[in-house]
Amino acid sequence: MHASEHLAFDVVTYAEPHLERTKRLLRAHPEVRELFGPIPSTAWFVVGIVALQVAAAILLGNAPWWGVLIAAYLLGAIADHALWTLIHDCTHNLVFRRARDNAMLQILANLPIVFPAAISFRKFHLLHHRFQGDLELDADLASPAEARFVGNSSWRKALWLLSFFAWQAARVPRLKRIRMWDRWYVANLAAQIGFIGALWAVAGWHAVLYLTLSSIFAIGLHPVGARWIQEHYLSFPNQETFSYYGPLNWVAFNVGYHNEHHDLMTVAWSRLPKVRAAAPEFYDSLQAHRSWTRLLLRFISDPGLSLYSRRVRNVNHGTAPAADGAAIESLTARSIASAHAESSPRPPVSALEQPSFQSLAPPRAS
Ligand SMILES: [Zn+2]
Ligand SMILES: [Zn+2]
Repeated sequence: MHASEHLAFDVVTYAEPHLERTKRLLRAHPEVRELFGPIPSTAWFVVGIVALQVAAAILLGNAPWWGVLIAAYLLGAIADHALWTLIHDCTHNLVFRRARDNAMLQILANLPIVFPAAISFRKFHLLHHRFQGDLELDADLASPAEARFVGNSSWRKALWLLSFFAWQAARVPRLKRIRMWDRWYVANLAAQIGFIGALWAVAGWHAVLYLTLSSIFAIGLHPVGARWIQEHYLSFPNQETFSYYGPLNWVAFNVGYHNEHHDLMTVAWSRLPKVRAAAPEFYDSLQAHRSWTRLLLRFISDPGLSLYSRRVRNVNHGTAPAADGAAIESLTARSIASAHAESSPRPPVSALEQPSFQSLAPPRAS
């Protein structure tokens, strides 16, 4: 019987595993610091995929509903998922150097995704890194009520994946410590209302339907939707983060390299395979997935896998105040800086005193 078949989270008291590995890895392979830093040309992929989705939506404006459905599953979901992976790179300031430029690019990348989610993802995701497994701060964890409702029945798990976008939104009230509304969120919301309104007026509601279905499939009941299961569901014992090294990384900007990414958040998507190649002794011994489709089918059919198949850390935050975007970004920058400083022969003191992404980027050789 699988350990998690008793339908409860795997509660532990020790820290998340990445910070420790970051320090060991940087000590063993100081040369991986060469891979740090943003890659501005990534922005062209955002522009190209947004243009592709808008063009497809306009072309499908007069298509029958079943044609829209098939196109959304076969093309739209993959395109939207790719946009999510680029929003993820923006979240870590890995496209441009300045945080605000990355935030603006992720608002652009959000347009075909219909729901305004890029800016809130930016906050929630940085906390996911810093507080992996913390029910109060890690939005990647299912709420206890959500996990109880879905249980381990196959059809409920399949329906949960299909409606994953709605469950994600329902988690927001649980995360009381995160302040959602700020001017960036308002800009994100206004851009979505303006864009979807204009598209509806120009190309009709089937165009909007195409984009909506694409967004739902991109994070749902679809091979690329299995990415959320792959990352932190306890699909193998004694490990809580898993990488995926299969072929869909080609259409997902290497987002499968999740252990590598958690260990070195300052490495952009195109350089993640180089982290694995540079430090094979850290990754070859870890369990990894090679097929999202196989994992999707296993998650649905295996009663040992459920929303409870997660490692959870109970942390008492006491009366700590709610955190806004700026507080979250400086918290994350500080933790990266201290991990890097602890494993560096010459600690970058300025980076510790004044956390900002600029101070973490390595000097460019040329
Ligand atoms: Zn990340
Ligand atoms: Zn993660």
